[in-house]
Amino acid sequence: MDYIYDDQNIFAKILRGELPCNKVHETEHSLAFADIAPKAPHHVLVIPKGPYVSYDHFARAASEAEILDYTRAVGEVIAKLGVGPGDGGNGYRVISNSGSDGVQEVPHLHVHILAGRNIGPLVVNQP
Ligand code: AMP
Repeated sequence: MDYIYDDQNIFAKILRGELPCNKVHETEHSLAFADIAPKAPHHVLVIPKGPYVSYDHFARAASEAEILDYTRAVGEVIAKLGVGPGDGGNGYRVISNSGSDGVQEVPHLHVHILAGRNIGPLVVNQP
């Protein structure tokens, strides 16, 4: 594993309190906040507090406590939004972009939770 974490990324600054965020949910190891440029009526980002670049980095290097906390935090945010089918909602999409092909802008793991409208096809461009 050779992941290089840039601690000057925007989400690292939010975690250190150097930049504000519109907090939606917080746990011991995770933070959720509104995306600054929402692409849907609900657009929430969930990040681990640890220095992980991408989903694969987190899945391979994080502790079991962090992974459990993060997975639960995603579920708790979806429950707060009330969009899960199990809560009578119309559903949502969870996306995590990674690297240049994934078109990741901020190099700190985050999942996007998008909901509140039909999110459309999985990808627009074809191979
Ligand atoms: P990605 O392309 O998956 O790395 O997405 C990064 C996301 O971070 C984009 O949807 C941005 O709108 C969002 N973003 C960038 N800066 C901020 C910020 N300061 N607060 C909240 N969201 C942000």
